Amino acid sequence: MRLRNKPWAIKLVNEHPESVLQNPDPAKKINWDKRFADFSQPLEIEVGSGKGRFITTLAAQHPERNFVAIELQTTAAGIILRTKLEKHLDNLQILRGDAADINRFFAPNSTNIIYLNFSDPWPKTRHEKRRLTYKAFLSKYQEVLTPNGHIEFKTDNSGLFAYSVKSMNNFGMHFDFVSVDLHHEKVEITQKNIETEYEQKFAAKGNPIYALYASFKA
Ligand code: SAM
Repeated sequence: MRLRNKPWAIKLVNEHPESVLQNPDPAKKINWDKRFADFSQPLEIEVGSGKGRFITTLAAQHPERNFVAIELQTTAAGIILRTKLEKHLDNLQILRGDAADINRFFAPNSTNIIYLNFSDPWPKTRHEKRRLTYKAFLSKYQEVLTPNGHIEFKTDNSGLFAYSVKSMNNFGMHFDFVSVDLHHEKVEITQKNIETEYEQKFAAKGNPIYALYASFKA
């Protein structure tokens, strides 16, 4: 998804370096301890947050946890930032950069949950390496997650879902929850589900939402 550039969003991002890290140098350590009011809180990361409905809602519901939204696009980062400022979400930071460097942006064993919501499907085989559930990405998530940590993944795209199940299974991951119609499951996960922008759009069209929780536990 490519958002049209919004000058106000780009300006807002540039005015708030304390909230948005822009294109950090992966070779340099990020001092997350100085960026969160309470760094001792557990950390959760969303990769590809888009306009941020999911992560800002979650951060508002859970002030006792810290969150980082990783997003490639500056305009999307600006939209997330606007909500963060309006809702005074001191427990949310935005990293405007590429999740391909996630294991250099975060210390090993530092993160409890990684959320992948409606990731770009990259359907062409020659683009497989760009899919956020490609084995090279899984390996980086494994580094960053705590031993008891896990990935939560949602999509409306059956091709990406099937690919991701296969990729995670081949990587030796364990599935703690799998659904091919999340919105119609009678489970607690559905009740507490926070819909993303894409999820609202596709569910409104009647598309089933696929979801899974997976971990690297031995
Ligand atoms: N998660 C949102 C939702 O469900 O409404 C947005 C989904 S949109 C299809 C995918 C988002 O992921 C886009 O905003 C895109 O810029 C971002 N993205 C894609 N690849 C990324 C990467 N390697 N690192 C960071 N963000 C990425």
